[in-house]
Amino acid sequence: MKIESYACGAWVGGSDDGVEVRNAINGETIGRVSSTGLDFADMLQHGRNLGGSALRKMTIHDRANMMKALAKHLLDKKELFYAISAKTGATRADSWVDIEGGIGTVFAYSGIARRELPNETFAIEGKTEQLSAKGSFVGRHILTAKHGVSLHINAFNFPCWGMLEKIAPSLIAGVPVIVKPATVSCYLTEAMAREIIASGILPEGALQLICGRTGDIFDHLNEQDSVTFTGSASTGQMLKSHPAITSNSIPFNMEADSLNCSILGAHATPGTPEFDLFIKGVAQEVTVKAGQKCTAIRRTIVPQENVDAVIDALSKRLDRTPVGDPSAEGVRMGSLVGTDQVKDVWSAVHKLSEENEVIYGGQPEFDVVGADRNKGAFFPATLLYCEKPFAAQSAHAVEAFGPVTTILPYKREDEAIELARMGRGSLVGSLVTADNEEAARIVLGTAAWHGRILVLNSDCAKESTGHGSPLAPLVHGGPGRAGGGEELGGARAIKHYMQRTAIQGSPDTLTAITRQFTTGSTPKIDPLHPFKKTFDELQIGDSLISHRRTVTEADIVNFGCISGDHFYVHFDEIGAKNSLFGKRVAHGYFLLSAAAGLFVDPAEGPLLANYGLENLRFVEPVGIGDTIRVRLSVKEKIFKAKRPDEDRATGVVVWDAEITNQDDVTVAVYDIMTLVERADT
Ligand code: NDP
Repeated sequence: MKIESYACGAWVGGSDDGVEVRNAINGETIGRVSSTGLDFADMLQHGRNLGGSALRKMTIHDRANMMKALAKHLLDKKELFYAISAKTGATRADSWVDIEGGIGTVFAYSGIARRELPNETFAIEGKTEQLSAKGSFVGRHILTAKHGVSLHINAFNFPCWGMLEKIAPSLIAGVPVIVKPATVSCYLTEAMAREIIASGILPEGALQLICGRTGDIFDHLNEQDSVTFTGSASTGQMLKSHPAITSNSIPFNMEADSLNCSILGAHATPGTPEFDLFIKGVAQEVTVKAGQKCTAIRRTIVPQENVDAVIDALSKRLDRTPVGDPSAEGVRMGSLVGTDQVKDVWSAVHKLSEENEVIYGGQPEFDVVGADRNKGAFFPATLLYCEKPFAAQSAHAVEAFGPVTTILPYKREDEAIELARMGRGSLVGSLVTADNEEAARIVLGTAAWHGRILVLNSDCAKESTGHGSPLAPLVHGGPGRAGGGEELGGARAIKHYMQRTAIQGSPDTLTAITRQFTTGSTPKIDPLHPFKKTFDELQIGDSLISHRRTVTEADIVNFGCISGDHFYVHFDEIGAKNSLFGKRVAHGYFLLSAAAGLFVDPAEGPLLANYGLENLRFVEPVGIGDTIRVRLSVKEKIFKAKRPDEDRATGVVVWDAEITNQDDVTVAVYDIMTLVERADT
């Protein structure tokens, strides 16, 4: 197999002097990997000049749609990737996590971006901040794509997911990427990158690939670039302290090895559903991807009195997980990704066994189904027991990046919490318990040491995604030893590649910059009622100022009778006098209804439905005899793609609504969401 890099618009490299990479099952040579000859400074410039400028011209929704098209394309080609993934020693199920899990993350990011971010080239964050008494000086945060490249240095264990979960948010943010996969499994990343480039879906320069060493690329990084790293803490820290990173303040997001734990709750005794869930979860994390997962359970924390039962149940389960060539009948666990990794894991197990007792596996002689143990990168599932978990240090410090976990006993809940913290920062922890009070105490006691915590019980187990799965909407990354970084987490990951800037100025200036109506801006009044305009005709700031209406006692009584709300501040003179308001006041919901009556154009038109209301605040009370009016302004327009089952093309129009009284004092503010017809183009 020819393994090349994609640099400056061409596939290059694959020279004979490169590092040899081998099939993890049978040891056969796959190819040689070398980045000799690549001009890394040119690659960065190519990404910034071509990829970056093309991406920044697109809106966030255009980029999200592009990623959706890419995800569909890769899904069509998935069998090609499964065939290559088998060479990494992965079972079909392991490959599914990497290939389809990765493609699923791209789909998820496309949806997150289109739902949560505007159809603009930039994003807006948070609400407008009032910075002055009269409202003529306001502030808001915007996020714009950095004019650099994101360099993604990835780990060997997820050649596809590792690339996709990082490129999706970066490209949607408008920032081109250079992907550097780990050498040992880069041939799978390369195959997927080839399909991405061949599809023509991404603009040239948006994605480049380095197979092999990164040469002097760090020397050419500048203040608009960013780096993400997944791998060992030592390499991560070395790269993070590169002078180019420190002197240019380049964001460096690091995800390193971590000693994740799973805790069995005190009452989850043998025979309870939670005990079984715990055993299943730990066994799964030991064997899926042969334990080569940054989220795998390395420390299994169990009540002292249940240690024997846990060892017994785990051993029985692991007995039913034959190791070997995943294409052979009955094999449930594949190999490590390469023989270097086998050496690393043995070395870690030897270190661990100095303080901990090997109670299952951990011997060089073990059965391998359908393959030669001496040629492939096989490792037996291994359990260790740590009798004195507070005195012994290695269980909390040495990561065997393979099918290995250490069982640690605890006597009291505070000990379980302390043991979890002794990992000094983890990507994920889990607790299996049916006792929600215990869950609350343990989660609050350990959360500061974790990026994610799963609390598993029989209520959620059926639908749970498990301990080991990072999910697009939730944060993936942990403090301390886990690298201190953050990936995924919904729109956060997209924003990671953008610069957040606080914009200050007048409301009209902020409306012009953000392209969203800012309260306090000059409304654009047109004699044509805005409900008569289509989505395409409506402009940001188009407004209606309604006629007035004086609130009467009859209004309050009628509304109380229709709604059944006879609360004393509306109906009881004495109670109302003693209340916060000192008098009878109109129902807040009457004001909303009356405002609708003031602004609605009743005839048929392009406005099809009112489907929600957000950010409602009742600011001042309205009493009998007060006179109200409403201003309605187009705040934001959100283009909606027409689904095949829809007969009309529509867009969402968000209206900024403000009800004022006879003294021009604001009494209520809110946003109304409506569905408005648009031209079907
Ligand atoms: P490394 O830290 O050596 O490698 C991680 C990535 O960094 C690879 O792409 C590697 O490329 C690259 N890299 C290494 N040195 C440099 C350098 N000087 N300049 C630029 N890039 C560099 O980790 P390993 O892959 O060897 O794994 C070692 C350990 O890391 C595992 O045993 C495990 O503990 C941990 N790990 C953690 C993961 C996580 O998700 N948190 C995932 C995988 C591993 P190359 O392959 O070409 O050297």
